[in-house]
Amino acid sequence: MNNSWTPKVSESFALVNIGSLVTNDPTLGDGLLGLIPDAAVVIDEGRIAWVGRSSDAPDASGAIDLEGRAVLPGFVDSHAHLVFAGDRADEFAARMSGEPYAAGGIRRTVAATRSATDEQLAANLHRLAAELRRSGVTTFETKSGYGLTTQDESRALRIASDVTGETTYLGAHVVPAEFEGRPDDYVSLVAGAMLDSCAPHAKWIDVFCDRGAFDVDQARTVLLAGIAAGLTPRLHANQLQHGGGVQLAVELDAASADHCTYLDDADIEALAGSTTVATLLPGAEFSTRSPYPDARRLLDAGATIALATDCNPGSSYTTSMALMVALAVRDMRMTPDEAVWSATQGGAKALRRNDIGRIFVGARADVISLNAPSHVHLAYRPGVDLIDRVWQSPPTPKVAA
Ligand SMILES: [Zn+2]
Repeated sequence: MNNSWTPKVSESFALVNIGSLVTNDPTLGDGLLGLIPDAAVVIDEGRIAWVGRSSDAPDASGAIDLEGRAVLPGFVDSHAHLVFAGDRADEFAARMSGEPYAAGGIRRTVAATRSATDEQLAANLHRLAAELRRSGVTTFETKSGYGLTTQDESRALRIASDVTGETTYLGAHVVPAEFEGRPDDYVSLVAGAMLDSCAPHAKWIDVFCDRGAFDVDQARTVLLAGIAAGLTPRLHANQLQHGGGVQLAVELDAASADHCTYLDDADIEALAGSTTVATLLPGAEFSTRSPYPDARRLLDAGATIALATDCNPGSSYTTSMALMVALAVRDMRMTPDEAVWSATQGGAKALRRNDIGRIFVGARADVISLNAPSHVHLAYRPGVDLIDRVWQSPPTPKVAA
């Protein structure tokens, strides 16, 4: 049976007979992933209370026998766009028939989102959140960006903050049709009245800094205004072409520079020497039939990589972190260990969280088991739903409004 789902952890219990446990803590086990064979984990009131070899485990009532399955921290999806209406399957089909990807397709989703009711947007968001949980994602970020009016952006963030504390204001996604030819007027709105209305519902601020969207100066204006309003920056950078986005992200100490598909040596050096995480989104390259980012070069230079779904109706309509792991291994030359680390601990770092993405005493008990003996199977068995069970701590408190 797949995907049995335990929504809340409110009692004390032990997971025993774990074939292979990924802790992401090299002091607890072997290698980058801190692997412990034949392991046990004790969970108490939604937190990890004990981790180690089964033979050393304290006596616990309510032990759950994992029968040799692999156990990992829940996936952390640090980049998604989940508040929208409609889909763009026709555009995907056209693109697969030879049309190139352009940022302008976002406007179609904007039109559908504006005309949707709050209830319709919330229902679609809850559907996707449930899909993420079934895929083993225990923390996810989501952005606004399909409203592009003060009212529609703040409504998107208000609806999003019901399902995650990791909410991102992306008023600067594209210039909406009604501001055609007046991009600076739109930037003023995004950095002014729209920000004032959105900041209470957001933790992060983001800009799509690329061809067809916003340039570096416009992005800087928006991000600096967001910082002044108490938000922390992250940035869509260097997805479609070379440019100054990555350098801007590092300059502003953004939590993450996302996409990073077109990087030169200076970009890689800047990321490697910073606390800005390079968030790679191979679902976007997969779904737009584009070249993948050079993960190997980033890793060899010492940069930190997160993998995320970029779930959105235009360029990556998937909630599968397991697919991201498989693509990263097969097409981006990451090792299975590196890819699994980036999908868990890397995502936590991209959200600047210390309480998730690892299994250690005191961490949130966000834990998944696989119908497989090892995490390697996530890449080795692409397209197969391997998620066995998901345990998740009670939700993080909402962003203070
Ligand atoms: Zn995105």
